[in-house]
Amino acid sequence: MTQTIEHFIDGKRVAPECGATCDVLNPATNAVLAEISLNDISVADKAVASARAAFQDWSETPVGERCQVLFRFKELLEQHFDELAQLIVDEHGKTTAEARGDVRRGIDCVEYACGAPSLMMGRTLPRIAVSSSFCREKEEGIPLDSSLERVPLGVCVGITPFNFPIMVPLWMWPMAVACGNTFVLKPSEKVSLCALREVELAHDAGLPDGVLNMVTGGSDVVNHLLAHKDVKAVSFVGSTAVAKHIYKTASGAGKRVQCMAGAKNTMIIMPDANQDAAIDGVISSSMGNTGQRCLAGSVAVLVGDAYEWFVPRIVEAAKQIKVAKGDEEGCGMGPLIDDSSVVRVTKAIEGGVEAGAELLLDGRGVKLRGFVGPTIFDNVPPESALAMEEIFGPVLSILRVDTLDDAIEVTHRSPYGNMAVMFTDSGYAANKFKDTAGAGMIGINVGVPAPMAVFPFCGWKDSFFGTLHSNGEDSVRFYTEGRILVSRWF
Ligand code: NAD
Repeated sequence: MTQTIEHFIDGKRVAPECGATCDVLNPATNAVLAEISLNDISVADKAVASARAAFQDWSETPVGERCQVLFRFKELLEQHFDELAQLIVDEHGKTTAEARGDVRRGIDCVEYACGAPSLMMGRTLPRIAVSSSFCREKEEGIPLDSSLERVPLGVCVGITPFNFPIMVPLWMWPMAVACGNTFVLKPSEKVSLCALREVELAHDAGLPDGVLNMVTGGSDVVNHLLAHKDVKAVSFVGSTAVAKHIYKTASGAGKRVQCMAGAKNTMIIMPDANQDAAIDGVISSSMGNTGQRCLAGSVAVLVGDAYEWFVPRIVEAAKQIKVAKGDEEGCGMGPLIDDSSVVRVTKAIEGGVEAGAELLLDGRGVKLRGFVGPTIFDNVPPESALAMEEIFGPVLSILRVDTLDDAIEVTHRSPYGNMAVMFTDSGYAANKFKDTAGAGMIGINVGVPAPMAVFPFCGWKDSFFGTLHSNGEDSVRFYTEGRILVSRWF
């Protein structure tokens, strides 16, 4: 019998109570791994109630003790590294190397959250002013001392996408709980087995019951959590359309909200670029994770005569990628997450051909169910969907321009602002590009400039809605409230 993925509430796995279900499939083999409940609303209420009940004790637990649990959790992640990576390969379809990267970058976030004792430290300024005395016999004024403390918010909710099943939840809940909050995670319905294992390991590490809960489900569960009176803050990572909905709904309900959203990222190749570095960087950026990455560079803008060496070499490099089940020997590209993604990416390729772009490499030729292989278009019309819209598949669009200014103009046309990359040997060009590209994460001779956890994940424009990003110092600010104390003593 097919197992149903359970919720995790108050320190226990809880069977779904009601509602619709759908199958969770291994994207490479189409085998049913489990089924998942989609709209078990009453259980979402129980998860929030459990987090609310746990809040007071947890927020009063010394921050150093809270972090000791995270240190133990990090050890458990290391011990279960292979198991988690294999779970990602099976449920998401990544290659083994990509799955290991997902776990490793997740551990990076846990390590950063272990620094909460210093990260959430406040500030004090003694004798900030002198006030007059009420005591008539005292001549001198009385000093006022002032300080800022950072205190937790309460119950926080995290809603996560499918594409980094272990890491993206770790962008959120470790820092939230390190700062003294309690948490309800609603992972993508496509990869909830990974999330459940992560949450269970956190409990095994000693996280008290109720501090971290997980509910499975889809949009009904999300919408219920957004409106819940006991939820104080919402972190979301996913597509821009859903991010706009989440931001509007949750902020309208008075919650603190951060939404990390979709992207269409440009990479500029200058004629003077180191050719090997540019080819490696563009291949890993556009084709890595089967293009299912918010930091996927999906548009290559070739300046001047860069096309002479770039076009033949990039096609040759893409042809070398072995498309296969993620844990097969030598695999360089796994499947897309599901059949609807195959349909979406296939339609994007058809649309590119209709728009007049030149199809140099056609990934539809891969005769494997669930897969689309590396695809490259040249001479892509700048206003076409290929150049402007997120495809979330292994499709690279090449545009040719005459000058650096023309190339920068291409990055400006995008409504998104997650990432922009340049390959060049010129410090002048790199600096000009950095200052004018209009994106929050810039790579110079780096194809995927993913920030380590000490820095915020700095999307701009339609790639982010809110004020404080995930990770880095922003995350500490997001998961805490400032409290000012002004005091004087007679
Ligand atoms: P998605 O927006 O479809 O789903 C994300 C989450 O929202 C899931 O948990 C899903 O259940 C929920 N959801 C979906 N539709 C909803 C609705 N109508 N109402 C309420 N909740 C809803 O995203 P996805 O396909 O899982 O992930 C891919 C997207 O995520 C891409 O656009 C990618 O660029 C983006 N992403 C962005 C970042 C970033 O940091 N900017 C990182 C990773 C992924």
